[in-house]
Amino acid sequence: MDWSHVTYLRVLIRPVLIASITIFICVFWIQSNSSDIDIKSAQHGHQLAVQSVQLCPLISPRLIGWTNLSLEAMSAISKEDEGIVELRMKQSGVKPGGRYEPSRCQSRHKVAIIVPVRNRTEHLAVFLRYMHPFLQRQQLSYAIFVVEQSERSPFNRGMLMNIGFKEAQLSQEEYQCVILHDVDMLPEHDGNPYTCPEDGKPRQMAFSVDHWNNYNSVSWNFLGAVTAMSANDFQRINGYSNAFWGWGGEDDQLFQRTKSQNLTVVRAFDGTVSQVVHYKTMSHPRATPNPDRMSVINEGWKKFQTDGLVDLRYTRLSLKLEPLCTRIVVDIQPYNITT
Ligand code: UDP
Ligand code: MN
Repeated sequence: MDWSHVTYLRVLIRPVLIASITIFICVFWIQSNSSDIDIKSAQHGHQLAVQSVQLCPLISPRLIGWTNLSLEAMSAISKEDEGIVELRMKQSGVKPGGRYEPSRCQSRHKVAIIVPVRNRTEHLAVFLRYMHPFLQRQQLSYAIFVVEQSERSPFNRGMLMNIGFKEAQLSQEEYQCVILHDVDMLPEHDGNPYTCPEDGKPRQMAFSVDHWNNYNSVSWNFLGAVTAMSANDFQRINGYSNAFWGWGGEDDQLFQRTKSQNLTVVRAFDGTVSQVVHYKTMSHPRATPNPDRMSVINEGWKKFQTDGLVDLRYTRLSLKLEPLCTRIVVDIQPYNITT
């Protein structure tokens, strides 16, 4: 055997082997990292795409103005086939739970509309069918929360509003404001802003209503029917009182609560009454006022800090993401309010 030949081969093969292993490792490293780089650049591109969705314009180009809400028009809305309405709403972008955000621009406002109800099925159908397109024309990001009270106790509008606020928070969406909305009130003109008011300035929306006073403005102390408030302000005033069972009083006390925190109640367009701020009501039998409401109002001053969102107690019987709203059914009953 020629040993010098074997040694010669060894000397030749070793560097070739080392070089090929090194090349293999390099190629593998570059490949695995380049796919990482691709993912990162794609993610970056997506971020840019999200960021580049423009804020919606200050005045929506989709507004159409005044809508005729005659009895015939409302009856036509209520008679439309439920399946067809739901399909149309879905196509327009309404998500289960009655949630919506504009697809082509980023809304400047994220609004939770809270509607307290009991035995107002027809009003609710018209309300939802009318309000979705209305709110969409304003390019708002919004959800409609319907809070329905079980039969057990007298109706408690304030407590239902508090529950709606809590449930909107529990939904993990960051709503900037709430619009506390009676089910039987319809804004006639989509120039009536359902945007979020700034902190410190709750906006009284219903002050020019057809049947109240033939559209004449109501008192500046009135804070009922339809009211918009920033989420910060609603929290700051501890929401509504939970102590008003039956008709009346909770809205008067809401006004007192805003005053106690030095909030300034404003109206759209400096309170000017024009067709833009008109509301149409849907009729119903008049409720019997709660005879105790004046004493609850008078007692209430001492309880702003303890009676409201902080001591809210309720049993949630169900929560359903329906095609046009998030419906929360609750059982509530009176309890002693700590002073
Ligand atoms: N409401 C209800 N069922 C009732 C009582 C009141 O759904 O039995 C709700 C509904 O949203 C209504 C609001 O509470 O619009 C205010 O009550 P109501 O309409 O009786 O008061 P009004 O302002 O007409 O005096
Ligand atoms: Mn009413």
